[in-house]
Amino acid sequence: MATSVSSQPHFRTCNLCEAMCGVEIHSQANGTLRIEGDRDDVFSHGYICPKAVALQDIQYDRDRLKYPVRRTANGWQQIDWDEALDEVADNLKRIQARHGCHSLGFYVGNPTVHNYSSILFLPGFIRSLHTRNRFSATSVDQLAHHVAALLMFGHQLLLPIPDLDRTDFLLIMGGNPAVSNGSLMTAADAPGRLRAIRKRGGKVILIDPRRTETARLADQHIFIRPGTDVLLLLAMLNVIFSEDRVRLDHGDPLNAFTDGLESIRTLVSDFSTEKTAPITGIPAEQVRELAREFAGAKTAACYGRIGVSTQEFGGVCQWLINVLNVVTGNLDRPGGAMFTRPAFDAVAAPEGLAPRGSFGRWRSRVRKLPEFTGELPVAALAEEILTPGDGQIKAMITSAGNPVLSTPNGRQLDRAFAGLEFMASIDFYINETTRHANIILPPTASLEHDHYDLVFHLLAVHNTAKYSPPLFQPQKNTRHDWEIFLELQMRMESKGLARSLVAKTKRAVVGRFFPPTRLLDLGLRFGPYGSKWKPFGSGLTLAELKRWPHGIDLGPLESCFPERLCTPSKRIALAPELLVKDIERVKTRLLDSHTHHSRNDLLLIGRRQLRSNNSWMHNSERLVKGPQRCTLLMNPSDAANRDIVDGQQVQVSSRIGAIEISVEITDEIMPGVISIPHGWGHDRSGIQMAVAEQHPGASINDLTDDESIDALCGTAAFNGTWVSVSNMATSNERGAAAVH
Ligand code: SF4
Repeated sequence: MATSVSSQPHFRTCNLCEAMCGVEIHSQANGTLRIEGDRDDVFSHGYICPKAVALQDIQYDRDRLKYPVRRTANGWQQIDWDEALDEVADNLKRIQARHGCHSLGFYVGNPTVHNYSSILFLPGFIRSLHTRNRFSATSVDQLAHHVAALLMFGHQLLLPIPDLDRTDFLLIMGGNPAVSNGSLMTAADAPGRLRAIRKRGGKVILIDPRRTETARLADQHIFIRPGTDVLLLLAMLNVIFSEDRVRLDHGDPLNAFTDGLESIRTLVSDFSTEKTAPITGIPAEQVRELAREFAGAKTAACYGRIGVSTQEFGGVCQWLINVLNVVTGNLDRPGGAMFTRPAFDAVAAPEGLAPRGSFGRWRSRVRKLPEFTGELPVAALAEEILTPGDGQIKAMITSAGNPVLSTPNGRQLDRAFAGLEFMASIDFYINETTRHANIILPPTASLEHDHYDLVFHLLAVHNTAKYSPPLFQPQKNTRHDWEIFLELQMRMESKGLARSLVAKTKRAVVGRFFPPTRLLDLGLRFGPYGSKWKPFGSGLTLAELKRWPHGIDLGPLESCFPERLCTPSKRIALAPELLVKDIERVKTRLLDSHTHHSRNDLLLIGRRQLRSNNSWMHNSERLVKGPQRCTLLMNPSDAANRDIVDGQQVQVSSRIGAIEISVEITDEIMPGVISIPHGWGHDRSGIQMAVAEQHPGASINDLTDDESIDALCGTAAFNGTWVSVSNMATSNERGAAAVH
């Protein structure tokens, strides 16, 4: 077992979600940990959610692998690291030699962004794979934000963050910060921050097909039909332009470096509130009121998240949200949507480490979906494995991800993985995805390595910096993720019998002279607060940061345009051609050919839950105990139409599959829409997650459709899947009657 570093309280940042809450951890006599909020943390001020206590559940989980394993006919067999790493590299090279470089696929899940050393060593590993078939969780999450940022501001990571602590008006679309604590808006204690807006006389409005937990903290909640947010945004902009409410000059000269205002004026003129209201379900007068309020507020920020990002028009929605913030003078302005200035600034980092972004340099083989920053949309992964021909994926590596449960048409991907010639997974669970691996390489758990949020400081509502040392020393003969990446990279790049020795030696040399901490230190020194720019060594270094266990407050977000803009012209591109062109698709799909589906068709949306985030959290008893969480929410009118009663088991079917799930009848969901949370479906054979298997639930991604995507960038259109729900009792009775 790993040994505790110290009996003193240990301060660190919780890495279970994006919120960056500070925790205080005490070792207890019974061998468990007492985990509470760190009141002195400069960012979270003592706030934590119920998940934080589960940090220890991963550490002590009996199902967590601590050594490499090989799948055999007689089950999983423990093997030595060198043997495992050699076998992985040998098989990948063998398959690439026979079928070409692109016959290798790579998928990386989102826990990687919570691990700075993985982020630093992943690019080198990926380069060593020489494949274009690279996928990640980005295309089932925040890709739309990156596309809009790249095309408008010149860098995929220049993401506008609502200035939550100073805004007077927050418009939230498809996000649930009361549960997520902010997503692409890192905001520990988001509930407290939302309450504070109202306390200081401001206003919070939520647009969502479900009256979520955030609605309870808002002044107003407005239902919207899933997938039509783009029309609401266009109609609001139509009002702002037609009523002459455009104000780029709230004291900030956005006017001086913004191109494309007139194109936007022309483009939105086709989208009147009268035309769009019947489709969104929001009355025209209410949209006009909303637009006027937003434009007239002293300061305002519009924030759209997963419900808006992962739908057919996600890219356009994120662009129009930025446009709305710009034309009302709220971009890059205190109280509006701003940009962070993190201590390790990825926007200013070398291209090899944090690329500005690229779009459409190549396309996927089967469906011709565009690359974004070196990755293809994961909705195309299964077909790239299953469709024969040159470039077909024959081998996979997955790292820290469970795409069988987290990507659309999970059953198809399940079948695809089962037919691969070879698969390796870097993961410490045998889950729905890794059960297909021939070799699993388990990295250390998060409490066994140090922590710095390279990504989430970049997305935070306040500038801070914090470093957390490891709490436990990992047991002997284990590897951190970055060491696994590095050793595999060395093996992929070298040949000959001595390559194990070469790989191990190189890892030792890098570990000695360029470990992750050295790279982090360099990033801090060369960052905006770094010692490189300050005289007499007064600036920030890792050594200095280590002196502040509760973090360093670097101040509120500050205006930074046009200096920080990365477009070649140093101007905001308000109307990028690609996005403007995509409005034609909006017209065709939503305005011209909008059809009402038959009475039994319902629109499926997802749901974030406080005690869950990723599928692996379902192996924590303390997070899954209590009432069943994997339920379907249905409006009373839809339930009555189908003779469905509360708690009943129903069958939900879509174009690609069917699941059984129990129903919760509630008017918190709008008529015509149902909601199912993600990450469940632990009933597949061969997984080794004892707690999750006892609470299997059903996977929403056995219903979501890999062919339903945002055609602009390939993001999975999770929100707005057409499904039908049938009453199993009635169907069974009918079946029985037919038999007799
Ligand atoms: S909100 Fe996120 S970061 Fe904060 S305690 Fe919960 S899981 Fe951890």
